[in-house]
Amino acid sequence: AERAGVGEWNGVGATADGVPVKVVANVGSAADARAAVAADAQGVGLFRTEFCYLGADDEPAIETQRTAYHEVIAPFAGKPVIVRTLDAGADKPLPFLGMGVEPNPALGVRGLRVAFDRPDVLERQLEAIVGATADSAAEVSVMAPMVATVDEAAWFADRVRAAGLPRAGVMIEVPAAALSAAEILDAVDFVSIGTNDLAQYVFAADRMAGALAQLNDPWQPALLRLIAKVGDAGRELDKPVGVCGEAASDPLLAGVLAGLGVTSLSMAAGAVPAVGAALAKHPFATFRQAADAALSAPTPSRAREAVRAALD
Ligand code: PEP
Ligand code: MG
Repeated sequence: AERAGVGEWNGVGATADGVPVKVVANVGSAADARAAVAADAQGVGLFRTEFCYLGADDEPAIETQRTAYHEVIAPFAGKPVIVRTLDAGADKPLPFLGMGVEPNPALGVRGLRVAFDRPDVLERQLEAIVGATADSAAEVSVMAPMVATVDEAAWFADRVRAAGLPRAGVMIEVPAAALSAAEILDAVDFVSIGTNDLAQYVFAADRMAGALAQLNDPWQPALLRLIAKVGDAGRELDKPVGVCGEAASDPLLAGVLAGLGVTSLSMAAGAVPAVGAALAKHPFATFRQAADAALSAPTPSRAREAVRAALD
């Protein structure tokens, strides 16, 4: 990479004093993967695999999945790629799963919960991921969506390891999982906080409802306090804690998340340079202070104000 000026993105995520914070991309297609490489992302923090299944009347064959995953993984030779297993459910129904209509799809059988009824679907997906990994030089990890308990996390990690994949993680997007972060981290290799769903479930506010957008604000102190709990667990167990929801793409929030103990931020490729540059602007101790200020703020606007004051 070219020499970057202070506060510019040079492809290596770190605070001004060199504390590493990975700046990685969310991808859901081969085109997204190319955009992530072009933005100098350090890898992929969330590969959404739903594209391979959506619109399909039948489950895609293992070979079809393997090819599709390989296209996305292959550009990241020598870099980490976190593949998320299927996050389907009654809100994104897949005909071949034969799921019934649910009155509350967001609270229904979605994400990893589908795999408890249909472990065969998960096993075939893991087999395809193993194949795609073998044909690439990327450092592939696998993580599960919508995990609520330690038992669920351990169940998933067992299957990932049995498939021969080296690293298993889970998303923290259910409040119960955030409250059990230390015990969950004990059972897996890493976690990644999905702030879109975590906010939805913490505030009991549909993430798609425009009228409730103020509740789904990642600056809500109650959400930040849950993220802090997960960050503390990561530090205690010395295991990685990512954020891969929308919160990770806000340059002002990036340093706050780092200060809360988050070790990687994953976002749409377009946000990578600004977030990388924001992290490089201040030493870790300053972000720690900004994080403390945000945590003790009573409202999202006061949290933003306090962080601006700490970082200006
Ligand atoms: C999230 O919930 O924050 C997340 C990253 O997953 P998705 O947006 O795919 O539900
Ligand atoms: Mg989610």
